[in-house]
Amino acid sequence: AKENGRSQYRLYSHRMHEEAEDKLQLEYELKNALKLNQFEVYYQPQINSKTNQVEGVEALIRWNHPKKGVLSPYVFLKLAEEMNLISDIGEWVLLTACSQLYKWQQTYGLSPNELSVSVNLSALQLQDIRLLESVCSTLDKSGLDPSSLELEITESSIILSPERIVDRLLKLTQKNIKLSLDDFGTGYSSIQHLHLFPIHTLKIDKEFIAACQQKISQDKVLIAMIQFARTLGLKVIAEGVETQEQLNFCDENQCDLIQGYFYSKPIPASEFEARFLIK
Ligand code: C2E
Ligand code: CA
Ligand code: CA
Ligand code: CA
Repeated sequence: AKENGRSQYRLYSHRMHEEAEDKLQLEYELKNALKLNQFEVYYQPQINSKTNQVEGVEALIRWNHPKKGVLSPYVFLKLAEEMNLISDIGEWVLLTACSQLYKWQQTYGLSPNELSVSVNLSALQLQDIRLLESVCSTLDKSGLDPSSLELEITESSIILSPERIVDRLLKLTQKNIKLSLDDFGTGYSSIQHLHLFPIHTLKIDKEFIAACQQKISQDKVLIAMIQFARTLGLKVIAEGVETQEQLNFCDENQCDLIQGYFYSKPIPASEFEARFLIK
């Protein structure tokens, strides 16, 4: 038994060693991914279900890993934050997405308020004192009108230091940039602070969309959240709408825009253009 225990230990430590090596390898590759041009921005439409018009598009990063294929942000964003790469990556996503939208607006004769782009900001970017400067110079480079840009932030990233962040957010909105609150309803709820934040849009987390019509009580929670947003004069986006039933529910309860697999998964720029812009 003792012998057995020892070899198990050896196996275990061997596996731990391998995992540590894998992580090191991934860190090394992540550090070089930006300059090797391995990141790509995918786009997911936000659709007005009454008119069937695409009114917005969310930019979502992917990593085209040379061996592992297309990697989801869940696999590498936390590591990117730990390694302090998130600001550089975030700036790249912003420039790519804004330049792309500007090009689409030009090509398809769309005015700045006809089609907007949403870009995610990580909590660390919000803490960065150079955020305003970086966003403004990136917008400048892209040619995009600031009113076509919506920055998505999460409740948990504001809660850390409300006053300082609110100040920073106000400066962004003074430039005509819009803000949306992502993943609303999950994590720590800042309902008591919400009216202090200069946000335009509330995105209802897909968790709530998935749970609705499973339980009556969940439906009521969702309806209350939508009404709450309306009371504050906010636009409402339902995220993670996958079925016709969920779409009907969102319609009946007056969500402004629908984002979810029902219409489309996030897709590469060329595909988005072919499916949603070329008439
Ligand atoms: P998120 O901001 O909440 O983005 C929505 C996620 O839900 C996306 O996952 C999207 O693909 C997924 N989704 C959309 N519709 C549906 C649906 O109908 N069903 C299901 N099951 N999922 C749906 P994705 O693209 O894997 O991104 C994951 C998270 O990574 C994002 O969650 C966001 O927090 C983060 N992220 C992605 N791109 C960036 C980025 O450029 N910068 C930062 N800081 N974070 C990013
Ligand atoms: Ca988002
Ligand atoms: Ca979300
Ligand atoms: Ca989310």
